[in-house]
Amino acid sequence: MIKRLFCYRFMIMMTLDQFWKFLNTVRKKSFTEIILCLFFLVLIFAYYCVNVFHILPCMYRLPSVLYLTHMLSLTFMVFNLLANFLAVMYADSSVIGRLLTISKYTSKEDITYCYVCQCNVPLRCWHCDICNVCILTRDHHCTFSTTCVGHYNRRYFLWFLLYLSVASFYEIILISYYTYYKVTIKFSDLMVLVPFQSVLTGFHLTAGQIFVVLLTLNFIAVTISSLLLIYHLDKVCKGLVCHEKQESIYDLGLMRNLETVFGEKWYITWISPFIESKLPYNGIDWQSHVDQYKTK
Ligand SMILES: [Zn+2]
Ligand SMILES: [Zn+2]
Repeated sequence: MIKRLFCYRFMIMMTLDQFWKFLNTVRKKSFTEIILCLFFLVLIFAYYCVNVFHILPCMYRLPSVLYLTHMLSLTFMVFNLLANFLAVMYADSSVIGRLLTISKYTSKEDITYCYVCQCNVPLRCWHCDICNVCILTRDHHCTFSTTCVGHYNRRYFLWFLLYLSVASFYEIILISYYTYYKVTIKFSDLMVLVPFQSVLTGFHLTAGQIFVVLLTLNFIAVTISSLLLIYHLDKVCKGLVCHEKQESIYDLGLMRNLETVFGEKWYITWISPFIESKLPYNGIDWQSHVDQYKTK
């Protein structure tokens, strides 16, 4: 009993410690980044509310099977969008608080020193000028989530991109279906897409114009997110990060490359970011893995 209580206390302490680390990273973000991030969170919330409380009840009777199917699919997508987005911010890939060991296989030319972080930089680790810290297996800095995508949060970033493209595509179908039956879109409504036209013609939005804007926004979102997803998945499959342009010496084969990013249970990590999937490498000691692989 006492042992269990101690265990719970330890878990709470660890969670609080991680949460405190997370708050510290948020505090260091620039004002613009925090505004962008909040804007994005509000947008996801608005997307859910408009669909569940307006569009779906107008199309299907409550609580019909079709309504529930759409509502549950939307909830699943929005949950994964939000949770993966927050996980990108929360999972820390920086070198802070990590024991940076250097493998015996690492040659002296490969060792670099970061004067800002005051540490020997591991292989595939780069200093981010925006986060002002070295990031393990650094992929890139994501402005929307105000954080660097690296060894421990790349999985969440990729699933976030997937759910963004799926949710936008789903929304295009839903809105097209809704407008076909409920809203008449005239050719003149397309004028809303011309920049500054409201300054010339006066600001009075019609329902048709609102749906033209929504459809356009979703088209942009689906195009950008799917292109980004294809680009990043291609890198993952080849065992590369964005910084590495040529053929990777860390290419350990498709399955191992997927495990390196998504963890041992890579095939089910799409279901939820809360599914634990242990990463095979620590993001610090790359050289020994390459040598192990080569000697196999
Ligand atoms: Zn650094
Ligand atoms: Zn960064």
